[in-house]
Amino acid sequence: MTAQLIDGNALSRQLRAEVKARAAALTARGTPPGLAVVLVGDNPASQVYVRNKVKACEEAGLHSVLEKYDATLTEAALLARIDALNADRSIHGILVQLPLPAHIDAQKVIEAISPAKDVDGFHVASAGALMVGQPGFRPCTPYGCMKMLEAIGMKDLRGKHAVVIGRSNIVGKPMALMLLAANATVTVCHSGTADLAHFTRDADIVVAAVGKRNVLTAGMVKPGAVVIDVGMNRDDAGKLCGDVDFAGVKEVAGWITPVPGGVGPMTIAMLLVNTLEAAERASA
Ligand code: NAP
Repeated sequence: MTAQLIDGNALSRQLRAEVKARAAALTARGTPPGLAVVLVGDNPASQVYVRNKVKACEEAGLHSVLEKYDATLTEAALLARIDALNADRSIHGILVQLPLPAHIDAQKVIEAISPAKDVDGFHVASAGALMVGQPGFRPCTPYGCMKMLEAIGMKDLRGKHAVVIGRSNIVGKPMALMLLAANATVTVCHSGTADLAHFTRDADIVVAAVGKRNVLTAGMVKPGAVVIDVGMNRDDAGKLCGDVDFAGVKEVAGWITPVPGGVGPMTIAMLLVNTLEAAERASA
């Protein structure tokens, strides 16, 4: 069996077209949606990420501001900028690109962002809203994974066993909560899980969010399962690859996301969706 691809590029294009139409309507009513992206330091990967986010905003008709600061910026100065952006009525979403330099407490900075502008969904208020099922911003990567499941007709996951590999605050944990909210039975695995394959072999849905190649191989997957690969790694040739042994697993799974062209583009699309929603709420 060869799995069907869940095409993150195509799905994100569709979502971004929807955002563009809604952004144009909002702009016509006098509220151009605005995103501020804050980058501190010169981490090369972060520079690529913020450039892509700003470019995606421009293409979707969102106003974006990129604020770049030297790695020596003090925590107090960054907190003052966040305060100013919180008060800026032309800005509806604030994203502080992580990681921050070691002398800055990232959690403190995230908590300084107004929850109404927390389009990354990392604020403790957003995490709490997800936990108790209240409206709030969902972290973009797991939110994008949920949209991928919806796109293949898996919106209500009642009766499905979903296994999430990884328990980070930005991917694994919110992913597990979103799957739970969609009525799946959820198992969360991590580095302390004794027999990962025991759980994944029973799963109808596997989400791999580890950051290591070949965490999930063909023998660990139930035939027909949906496999979502969040991981971003480099193979021996230096090419981008995920956590899943794609060549092997696609012969067993029913659906699979590629890397690149899977979860990555969905993450950016969901950032635009969150920013648009923040602007819509602000103008309501
Ligand atoms: P992270 O904070 O490093 O978390 C990795 C998780 O994997 C941890 O919970 C860890 O367990 C678990 N783990 C490590 N080795 C394991 C093993 N052998 N078996 C089972 N679990 C294991 O990483 P993250 O920030 O969640 O990111 C995960 C991956 O997703 C990375 O490759 C990252 O680049 C990628 N990512 C992609 C996107 C995107 O848009 N495509 C967005 C965000 C992240 P412990 O908790 O026990 O240490």
